[in-house]
Amino acid sequence: MESDVVIVGGGLTGLSLARRLDEAHIDYVLLEARDRFGGRILSQASDNSSHPNVRHDLGPSWIWPGQPRIERLVREFNLRPFQQYSEGTLVYEEADGSVRRDFNYSTMAGSLRIGCGVASITDAIVDVLDRQKLLLSHTVTRIARNKGSFRLTATTVNGEETIRARHVVVAAPPRVVESTMTFDPPLPGDVVKALRAVPTWMAGQAKLVAIYDQPFWRNMGLNGDGISRRGPLVEIHDATPASGEMGALFGFVGIPVGLQQRERSSLIDSALPQLEAMYGQKASNPVDIIVKDWANDRFTATTHDKDGSGHPQLATPVSIAGLVDEGLMFATSEMGPQFGGLLEGALEASEAVARRILAADIDPVWT
Ligand SMILES: Cc1cc2nc3c(=O)[nH]c(=O)nc-3n(C[C@H](O)[C@H](O)[C@H](O)COP(=O)(O)OP(=O)(O)OC[C@H]3O[C@@H](n4cnc5c(N)ncnc54)[C@H](O)[C@@H]3O)c2cc1C
Repeated sequence: MESDVVIVGGGLTGLSLARRLDEAHIDYVLLEARDRFGGRILSQASDNSSHPNVRHDLGPSWIWPGQPRIERLVREFNLRPFQQYSEGTLVYEEADGSVRRDFNYSTMAGSLRIGCGVASITDAIVDVLDRQKLLLSHTVTRIARNKGSFRLTATTVNGEETIRARHVVVAAPPRVVESTMTFDPPLPGDVVKALRAVPTWMAGQAKLVAIYDQPFWRNMGLNGDGISRRGPLVEIHDATPASGEMGALFGFVGIPVGLQQRERSSLIDSALPQLEAMYGQKASNPVDIIVKDWANDRFTATTHDKDGSGHPQLATPVSIAGLVDEGLMFATSEMGPQFGGLLEGALEASEAVARRILAADIDPVWT
């Protein structure tokens, strides 16, 4: 297979870049390791809920005012943003288990959620692209450079595939790239160091979503926000869909990251009494619980991310940028200069790379 540009990674950065190339009539192929698009964006329905069409965000939940690119995208695709619920008080749990419910504060007031989940954004982009150019279950393992062209090796369900390209945009988390892909010739030492130094935003997190028939805490005058010094959930928010037809709370898990599957049941066993203590008896009886441990997901996190990750405020590190002249580019949300780590940062990063590719004046046909 040949293409002018190969994009490695089908998260928001890779998909939004694909869209830009598509609009500019530039030949591209996108290779995504997982069997789904979206990367860290993941909106999942509950198997046990009587509302199978409601999807719960296990990755990002919010966009904020002042993020022009994502706002534009949401408007363009008519994705029905709605305000994070913020009426009422916050629940605070001390380390000794005592609970206060009288804090008149909402931690996420003013932020916006997306009807049908944040994955509606990536779904909408996929829908306007040529599906034949978007290849799922293609894990890139090797990128070889030779005289201005590249040979990529990808593992697929049918064995290995080779793809030739003139430009490669690696839109996978820099640490994942550094620890799982081989480069030939090897990347210079300072580039390897720079890739490893970029923390993947939220990669060390796990999220637990508890789904209920009703957002019952709202009738108790609570906005759903919870802060706990005791855990296992350390920060909790209302995750109810816009319609309010059912309720959901989500919490970030504060116990050591890298939660193993076998610990899932003990996490739930300890989260339920905590939810009951904070939100009342109904909270101990959810219709379903979904847990997503990002720290244990090899296409997002590496061992370096397991001790937590600071919020990257990074532009592309200089040594990485130096490879651009050779046609090898790196772009993820971490490299958004103003909104590093966020959805808006992914759009910033893809915009910058698209600008470079367009400036490279690629012939419309591979020769
Ligand atoms: C729990 C959580 C909560 C968050 N909350 C928010 C929020 O509320 N608001 C916000 O703005 N941001 C939030 N974020 C951050 C946001 O999700 C990311 O900034 C954004 O989704 C990153 O997009 P990306 O395309 O740059 O990277 P990714 O989504 O990581 O995409 C990279 C892609 O590369 C693929 N890949 C990896 N290795 C290979 C390989 N070898 N071959 C081929 N493909 C490969 C991956 O499978 C993935 O699809 C959150 C993230 C998490 C995890």
